[in-house]
Amino acid sequence: MVMLDMAKDRKKNGEEHGLLIHHIPRWLKDQVKRKFLNMLKPEVFERFSEEELQECIDEACGPLTAIDMVIMLKNMDSLCEKCGECCRNCDPILFTDRDVQRLKKFMGKEVLAFFKRHGKGYTPIKTRPCIFFDEQTKRCTIYEIRPDVCRLFPLKTDSKFGLILQITPYCKVPINYLAYRATGILIGKMIKKENPALDKAIETQVKEICEELGISKSSSPIRQLSKAFELYNILSRGRKR
Ligand code: SF4
Ligand code: SF4
Repeated sequence: MVMLDMAKDRKKNGEEHGLLIHHIPRWLKDQVKRKFLNMLKPEVFERFSEEELQECIDEACGPLTAIDMVIMLKNMDSLCEKCGECCRNCDPILFTDRDVQRLKKFMGKEVLAFFKRHGKGYTPIKTRPCIFFDEQTKRCTIYEIRPDVCRLFPLKTDSKFGLILQITPYCKVPINYLAYRATGILIGKMIKKENPALDKAIETQVKEICEELGISKSSSPIRQLSKAFELYNILSRGRKR
C-alpha cells in the first residue's frame, strides 16, 4: 500500500489550536474536482462561474481538522465505495492480540493457522490480496469481526496527531469526502447569492453557536456549522455517559 501521510503541523496558538492540518496533493485535488463537477446538475453551471466553482474546490481541499476525521469516520459507510482495493493492496496488517482473541471466539483457535506472530501482534500469512478477502463477493469474509485497523481505514491512529487520513492511489474515501465538502461550500455560496436575508440569519446563528463552542471563525459559515453540530453531538454524547 502506498501511503502518504500528510500530517504536518498542529499549531499551538491561535484559531487552529488543536486541529490537525493536512495538505492535499495536487493529483488528489484534480480527482476531487472531477468528482465534484460530475455531481452537479447542469443548472448549477448556469448560476455559478468556473471561478466560483473552483473556489469551492480550493476551500474544500484546505486544511483538514480533527472534526473532519470524526465526520469521515461517522459517515464511512456512505463514503466508502466497497471496491475492495484496500484488501487487495494491503501490506501485512497487524492484528492485535485483541483482534485475534475476537476471531478465536467466533472461529475457534484453528484461526491461528492463518497467522504468523509478528512483534506485538499477528499478521496474516498471505496479503495482496488479504487472506480474508473474497474476490467473488468483493467482501471481507470476517467483516463483522475484522481488526480495528480495517475498521478505521483510510483513517488510522497516530500517537502524535490522534486520527490521521491515509492518502492512497486507490481509495475513494478522501475524494468523496472532499467533493461533498465542496458541495457544502457551494450550498453556502448559493444561499449567500440567492437569499441574502437567510444567509445573514445563518451567519448570526452560526456566530452565536461558534462563540459558545469556541470554534474558529476563519472558515465558511457552512463549515463552521457542520463543525458546530459535530462538536455539539460529541459533547452531548459525552454528557449522556
Ligand atoms: S481483514 Fe478483511 S477488511 Fe481487513 S484487509 Fe483483510 S479482507 Fe480486508
Ligand atoms: S479502498 Fe477505500 S473505497 Fe475501496 S473499499 Fe477500501 S476503504 Fe472503501
